[in-house]
Amino acid sequence: MADPFVTELAPGLTVLRADNAGPMTLDGTCSYLVGSNRLVLIDPGSGDRGHLSRIHGVVRGRSIAAVLLTHSHSDHAELAGEASRVFGAPVLGSRETLRRAGLEGGALADGDQVSPGADIALIALATPGHSSDHMTFLSEEDRWLFTGDLVLGEGSSAILHPDGNVGEYLASLSRLYALRPAWLLPGHGPAVADPMSLLANYRTHRLEREAQIIRALTAGARSVPEIRAAVYDPLPEGLAWAAEAAIAAHLASLSDSGYEVPPFEAYGVPAEDD
Ligand SMILES: [Zn+2]
Repeated sequence: MADPFVTELAPGLTVLRADNAGPMTLDGTCSYLVGSNRLVLIDPGSGDRGHLSRIHGVVRGRSIAAVLLTHSHSDHAELAGEASRVFGAPVLGSRETLRRAGLEGGALADGDQVSPGADIALIALATPGHSSDHMTFLSEEDRWLFTGDLVLGEGSSAILHPDGNVGEYLASLSRLYALRPAWLLPGHGPAVADPMSLLANYRTHRLEREAQIIRALTAGARSVPEIRAAVYDPLPEGLAWAAEAAIAAHLASLSDSGYEVPPFEAYGVPAEDD
């Protein structure tokens, strides 16, 4: 029987969904194996050991040339050290990602070609916004874009103060749009075969949220919880903090633009939270 956690999306492109579904991870973190014989593993995923054995199962007689990280959040990066040891492949990511994850590896800068002996060539793009250390990876030949948590296959990406930044996020979205990708391969949710409309919707969603917050401020909201009550529908247990950290990210951006905003520093969240 087919494994519901493993899907071959195209020749040379397999997605493996980690068994870590949750309110912030949707149906689980997506790891990708890319290439035909010398593969690249993008975002090895969370500490679930069944996930690493699934990766083994897909690699079979082939090898992994490099383990790439989009960013350091643990649901993407936790298995990176072990995957690197098991497959004898270096971990590559932004310098800040490697530092935060406590990993030795190769630091990637914006625009770097990533082809460490793999049979697929990728370009690393610095795309902050969800987190300041975030990178996306583009396969130029097929125009597959591995978006990590910058763009998800469904729902919206979390931009949480203080590591998330709304202005940087919008700039990163514009950059992805200009690349004209054929497919988006997100860190959570399904692959996206219609990237341009999804990217446009992400931008619209973010600007609408900003407009809602400005309206709430104009109507007299004087604290982050008051803004949340005005802007969000009632939230499931455990998501209120994320909504407030997201509001704080917007307030930081509005404050930079000269708006007078209520205090929001208390809503910072640890960088390792997704
Ligand atoms: Zn993340």
